[in-house]
Amino acid sequence: MKVSSPESSKNVFTEAMEVFHAAADLVGLDPRVRLELEEPDYEHIFYVTAVLNDRLAPLDEKEEARYGKLAASSLRPDALIPLANGKFILRPDGLRGADLHVENGVIRLPGGLYRIEEGQSRRFKSYRIQHNQARGPYKGGTRYHQAVSLDVFKMLAAEMTWKTAIADVPFGGGKGGIKIDPREYSKDELEAITLRYMYKLKPMIGPDIDIPAPDVGTNGEVMAWMFRQFSDGERERHTMRGIVTGKDPRIGGSEGRAKATGQGLAFCVEEWFQDQGLQIKGARFILQGFGNVGAAAAEIITAMGGKIIAVNDADGSIFNPDGIDVAALVAHVHQNKANLKRSVLGFAGAQAISKADFWEVEAEVLLPCALGGEITGEVASKLKVKMVAEGANHPTTPEGDEVLAGRKIDLIPDIIANSGGVTVSYYEWIQNKRMEHWTEAEVNARLEKAIKSNYRIINDIARNRPRRTPEFSSAPFVLGKEVPSRTAAMVLALKRIEAHYLIEGFSQ
Ligand code: NAD
Repeated sequence: MKVSSPESSKNVFTEAMEVFHAAADLVGLDPRVRLELEEPDYEHIFYVTAVLNDRLAPLDEKEEARYGKLAASSLRPDALIPLANGKFILRPDGLRGADLHVENGVIRLPGGLYRIEEGQSRRFKSYRIQHNQARGPYKGGTRYHQAVSLDVFKMLAAEMTWKTAIADVPFGGGKGGIKIDPREYSKDELEAITLRYMYKLKPMIGPDIDIPAPDVGTNGEVMAWMFRQFSDGERERHTMRGIVTGKDPRIGGSEGRAKATGQGLAFCVEEWFQDQGLQIKGARFILQGFGNVGAAAAEIITAMGGKIIAVNDADGSIFNPDGIDVAALVAHVHQNKANLKRSVLGFAGAQAISKADFWEVEAEVLLPCALGGEITGEVASKLKVKMVAEGANHPTTPEGDEVLAGRKIDLIPDIIANSGGVTVSYYEWIQNKRMEHWTEAEVNARLEKAIKSNYRIINDIARNRPRRTPEFSSAPFVLGKEVPSRTAAMVLALKRIEAHYLIEGFSQ
């Protein structure tokens, strides 16, 4: 029988929890609290099904010769919806008025030969992990991505517990989503899948129980579908807007929420520059990920005077030493219907470079705002930056952390750097409860004060500098010795969570 060693049973979750254990040892965390936090309260794995539309799939080159004599068909211009994988959705009403010539399910269109794939029912693996609720309702995003797993969601849910404690908002941690590449589905299919996801989720969540938000692959539109499905037909529907955050401001979302994660990241970066006695104006940034977080961070940092000189995303990398025109890049990626992959590739205002070259671009700051595990030991050894501010969740591996520390590259860890999103989600939730609508200036002023105070406490813990100011006190958290910034952030989280268990006690 093969006995697995602790090393071989490592996964993204247990690896991420190493920081938790190190900080728990340092603060002498109560053993029972440690057990409570080590594993999630609940792990929900379930399946949702949906009926998909017919698709047109490009024919294999080898098969094309067989259809040399097939006459061309013509369809209404709006009959087809292009997908990022080269296929087209054939809209249910798309054949009305069509002139069709079909042979063995193959048709010829101006773009080439296509096989009609019959729309089928499909099943999607779905998750919601509720990690901890000692400080308040479970809270965390909804990810639609092909590379998710139980361990990834456990890691992300635990990160939310630490993050809500650091942000000092009255929530716990949760995370969920669906194993799916949303770029390969039409909007009506994604709506159907989302409605079914919420249908199955409804018995497990609520505005005071567990509150989802957007994450990779989801947005305000998905949140609107989730809200509708949760509240449909309910008598007190209007009291349920807080079931999800990240909604459109016109239906109960908060001003500033869409940009809040990028805004919070920019506030942390601003604080780091001030602390170092350096100017953001003219400073160079390289950025990974140009989605919700990355694009917002790029816009705000540019407005602060910084220069984004290189961007990498899932499909490529671009570089312009004079600074990329961020507004034009947003138009290229997010307002351009022909850019099906929503990629920075093909942007006219910069040159394409390889991913390997991207990591070696010399700059003051790297902003990883894509997925986890990107800054490995090898990548960290090549970076030519002074500081890494983690917009993404868990972008740096433990080995990457060691290399960054060895090379004296500063780090603003994810659980503070990207906590702006959940902080403004909290503001949205309060506004929903109170039926209020705050201005963007009010939201940003509160966010700046909150995130900078918590960031200063973490810095004080890292540098062993107890302080009491009118805004905050770091004295109860410092350890009597210096610690890495990631550990310092976890120390703040654990002390705030532990207080709830020790003061309230355990229900039996
Ligand atoms: P998004 O889906 O809007 O964008 C993701 C971006 O990452 C895209 O530009 C994509 O091309 C890029 N990407 C994906 N895989 C990549 C790869 N292998 N290499 C390089 N780039 C890749 O997602 P988002 O909402 O901006 O989230 C980005 C990160 O920020 C995630 O780690 C997420 O968990 C974290 N985060 C998001 C929020 C939020 O409010 N949306 C809050 C806190 C943390």
